[in-house]
Amino acid sequence: MGSSLQPMLIDSHCHLDPAYLPAGPGDVLTRARAAGVGLFVCIGVGRDLGAARAAVALAGARKEVFATVGVHPHDAATTDERGFEEIARLAREPRVVAIGEIGLDYHYDHSPRDVQKAVFRRMIALAREAGKPIVIHTRSAPADTLAILEEEDARDVGGIIHCFSEDRAFAERALALDFDLSFSGILTFKNAHAIREAARFAPADRILVETDSPFLAPVPLRGKTCEPAYIVHTARCLAELRGQPFDEVARQTTANAAKRLGLPLQSD
Ligand SMILES: [Zn+2]
Ligand SMILES: [Zn+2]
Repeated sequence: MGSSLQPMLIDSHCHLDPAYLPAGPGDVLTRARAAGVGLFVCIGVGRDLGAARAAVALAGARKEVFATVGVHPHDAATTDERGFEEIARLAREPRVVAIGEIGLDYHYDHSPRDVQKAVFRRMIALAREAGKPIVIHTRSAPADTLAILEEEDARDVGGIIHCFSEDRAFAERALALDFDLSFSGILTFKNAHAIREAARFAPADRILVETDSPFLAPVPLRGKTCEPAYIVHTARCLAELRGQPFDEVARQTTANAAKRLGLPLQSD
């Protein structure tokens, strides 16, 4: 996959479900392929199970797409037992490569914090059962996120801190717990000093890139509706910050995502 001119990139975290793309992801995926994105991890979370079902269906229909399923902290309080059962069933699907995004969000507090914590723990247990890594969403809750990962022995499952937006101290603890750091368009924002510092120091074999599309378009497209093609700008920024050639960062982040999530890297 990808041309010989430029190594392919993996968008390790994008939302492609009908809630965001009512006309389907076809055009968005075509533009991303043209920009050098070879594989996509479609995140199956949402207010109901539609996003999880859609992510699994898309991954079944397209060889370049893989899926995750989970319960986002926003939806922790509205997911019922039947919902949890279906997530557990979908988690075993072969093209589901991780459980997520799961975690804590104390910025929006869409679900009560005690419910968020309980569901986060439950999702870590599900990942252990399914034998799959986890994709962590954490916002304004660094201490509780790390405490739960430690208490639940999450290093057994490992995973990814998605849309890394904490500081170097958090990064060091997350890395020690076997979590890789995935950088989104926020990395390109000039005032993201702590995130940029973490991106500079992080070990080369522990960094990933993602768009989190349709959110967080990188500079110079900031403010637009994000799509996976835009990941090139984030990868370029990461290379500049680290003082490495773009191709080297592209190859490394792709290898890291593939290793963490068990994605195939053979050519077309
Ligand atoms: Zn998130
Ligand atoms: Zn997301």
